Amino acid sequence: MRITVAGLGVSGVPAARALAGLGATVTVVNGSDGERPRAQAAELEPLGVTVRLGDGDTLPEGTELVVTTPGWKPTSPLFVAAEAAGVPVWGDVELAWRLRGPDSAPWLAVTGTNGKTTTVRMLAAILEAEGLRTAAVGNIGVPLVDVVLGESTDRPYDVLAVELSSYQLHWAPSVRAHSATVLNLAPDHLDWHGSMEAYAADKGRIYEGNTVACVYNVADKATEDLVRSADVEEGCRAIGFTLGTPGPSQLGVVEGILVDRAFVENRQQQAQELAEVADVTPPAPHNIANALAAAALARAFGVRPTAVRDGLRAFHPDAHRIQHIADVDGVSYIDDSKATNTHAAEASLAAYEHIVWIAGGLAKGATFDELVTKSAARLRGVVLIGADRALIREALARHAPDVPVVDLDRTDTGAMPEAVREAARLAQPGDTVLLAPACASMDMFVNYNKRGDAFADAVGELTARDR
Ligand code: ADP
Repeated sequence: MRITVAGLGVSGVPAARALAGLGATVTVVNGSDGERPRAQAAELEPLGVTVRLGDGDTLPEGTELVVTTPGWKPTSPLFVAAEAAGVPVWGDVELAWRLRGPDSAPWLAVTGTNGKTTTVRMLAAILEAEGLRTAAVGNIGVPLVDVVLGESTDRPYDVLAVELSSYQLHWAPSVRAHSATVLNLAPDHLDWHGSMEAYAADKGRIYEGNTVACVYNVADKATEDLVRSADVEEGCRAIGFTLGTPGPSQLGVVEGILVDRAFVENRQQQAQELAEVADVTPPAPHNIANALAAAALARAFGVRPTAVRDGLRAFHPDAHRIQHIADVDGVSYIDDSKATNTHAAEASLAAYEHIVWIAGGLAKGATFDELVTKSAARLRGVVLIGADRALIREALARHAPDVPVVDLDRTDTGAMPEAVREAARLAQPGDTVLLAPACASMDMFVNYNKRGDAFADAVGELTARDR
């Protein structure tokens, strides 16, 4: 088959390699040209792959299938041309799904605006505690195509914990998970999807064809609506998770205990203890929700309650996600650099009582009124950094006029140390200094990792200076 791969990068290169290995005639088109694309092209060309750099718009003659990487917008000229020519477009996840062998492991799938990576890693930890062979894959870790192709030669997996982004779901019409969850839905990536409705519809695809459970967030009605409109297999159940007391067919929390009222023999009368809130790191409300979603998927797969507990205890979050850096003079310093949108920042601000908040960066079209209104009572002070800090400053002036604000008008490498010193000055013993920017980082840093590292370094300098 003559296949065009749209884009190089972390999923395009493995897709092209896999397709060439299967005997396809592969052309990769990539809009940009430069050092990295050239290096990747040099890696692919010996495998017989043609790479066209600098033109991502023209559909190569004779293309029978387009395989796209997640970054490309649905409105890209290449896809318009493909549609006009009647050529199907698959995403990398669709490709992986179609390449699965008959004995392939079932997928437990996770999407949502925030919490995907955390939940998928928790789920993998729980499945491992059950003694199952598994991996956290998809939007993280090893490319899904490589995992699926590796299955035929390597030790097969029993089950996969799969993170799927809204982009990937958009181009993955035939994926059918064993069970799946949409953790939450808030506006994000609307420039890519075109509208909130289109974004929600793409997320909702994860429930299509589920066989055992569609797991939704009781506190986020939009997720339940998506379950309701999904076409699932006969007998597939809708399972809710809630931070409150669970009703029948729900998982929830009762007096500090995570309980299951869904996967028990008599859900009208019985509840099964799974774990304690204290078994979840960090025990912030949104993270308990992640743990409940992971537990629901695991229980849908038949995992025992003790394995849920052991898995949650074994789980430790990735760096820059509510990561405790240090305590200095009775003040706790927390790095949630991964809070790159307002929905994520709201969750982490809700987790602490008295906060000096370090915020700002690239707003990506977001507004901050709701976030500031909800968090105002917890704010001891705010230090603003980055390109779009005026948007946050104005929201603070409107909804929290008494909160002291330090507005840092610099974007050089000294900005973070100064922000941290200012935050330390505003904080009182018992407070939390929280980096939860609610913005992307690329105005000042290479990525959110580097922003978090700069924060941790600056906290380290505080400690050193105080000594
Ligand atoms: P994703 O993979 O969806 O980007 P992560 O697990 O990496 O999600 O978490 C990203 C950020 O989102 C975290 O730093 C945290 O601030 C926030 N977050 C995590 N879980 C939730 C949740 N359930 N609801 C709201 N915000 C969350």
